Amino acid sequence: MHLGFAGKINIYYLAAFMVLSAACSSGDPDKENLNTTKGQADMSIGKKPFGTLSDGTAVEIYTLTNSNGLEARIMTYGAILVSLKVPGRDGVLGDIVLGRDSVADYIEASPYFGSIVGRYGNRIARGRFKLDGEAYTLAANDGENHLHGGIKGFDKVVWQAEALRHNGDAAVRFTYLSRDGEEGYPGNLSVTVTYTLTTENELKISYEAETDKATPVNLTHHSYFNLAGQGSKDILGHELFLNADFFTPVDAGLIPTGELKSVTGTPWDFTSPHTIGREIARVDGGYDHNFVLNKEAGKLSHAAAVYEPDSGRAMDIYTTEPGIQFYSGNFLDGTIPGKQGKIYHQHFGFCLETQHFPDSPNQPNFPPTILRPGDKLSSLTVHKFSVR
Ligand code: BGC
Repeated sequence: MHLGFAGKINIYYLAAFMVLSAACSSGDPDKENLNTTKGQADMSIGKKPFGTLSDGTAVEIYTLTNSNGLEARIMTYGAILVSLKVPGRDGVLGDIVLGRDSVADYIEASPYFGSIVGRYGNRIARGRFKLDGEAYTLAANDGENHLHGGIKGFDKVVWQAEALRHNGDAAVRFTYLSRDGEEGYPGNLSVTVTYTLTTENELKISYEAETDKATPVNLTHHSYFNLAGQGSKDILGHELFLNADFFTPVDAGLIPTGELKSVTGTPWDFTSPHTIGREIARVDGGYDHNFVLNKEAGKLSHAAAVYEPDSGRAMDIYTTEPGIQFYSGNFLDGTIPGKQGKIYHQHFGFCLETQHFPDSPNQPNFPPTILRPGDKLSSLTVHKFSVR
């Protein structure tokens, strides 16, 4: 499997080299269009400057377009999916992810809109864990707990990026080296995240990581989706299916109690599709829970399906991960300006974060999240779009 992966990477490198060489000869970096060859006439990859950080670091944005017109824009800051346009039943493209207008805006305030989250996505109780007899303390950036990698997680760093293409699919491969001690975590961790827009109307996100010291790792993607179109209305009328017979109940600080609880007869039962709003009032604070996916460990399997009746847009999620955090945008309150003047009120977006369970480093009964030197983390999540 590792050899297979390495082989693929080599093909990608070659393709990226060819694409980038062609682009460089175009001479205009502002309009760099890493464009297509015959036979892939409608698929394209574009690359443009997207502002700078206060220290002068340049940020770029990649635009992936497939032959059906779907378009994903992803920037190097936070490897953030800035926009995702997919057609509705009427064929009209709509941007279905929440976000902000500029890098400066994302830096000013963003509740992880569209970002890659790490080194450990979700919470670690009191930012503490023991590993191989040693105690580690991470930043407490969510009350007394550690959330989404700390004060400066993977959502707030600039990633290296390169465009790739493979069999008509358009992709961008992001890499980041998280240094030993960063945010308190042990080991130099090299991370690769690849976003691929396929001819089958899928947005695939694949993750690889390797370390030189044992460390907890839990990588996820944090888009807030609204299949009716970002900023148009709340998501309570979206119909949701979750392939999960159990979830992990939490305490007041949203740390799992350790129990795997059956969803049967509770408002967490999405095993038959129904609207997100149907029982949300029975859930204190709204949904913000990890669901235990029904699956064979490590296999790519169906995790969730979402359908928005007005636009007809549907999204299916497949993942190799054991869990999915369903967050109903409870803390959105209209105070952080959205894209194109939109206002994101409470429940205007939902997240479905494929992941290992929260607080796993302190929960011996949860699937393990410790990556050791010599091992390779490899994870895949697929978002497939269609209309009904
Ligand atoms: C968490 C929420 C948190 C949000 C950050 C989600 O992944 O589950 O509790 O507020 O991220 O905006």
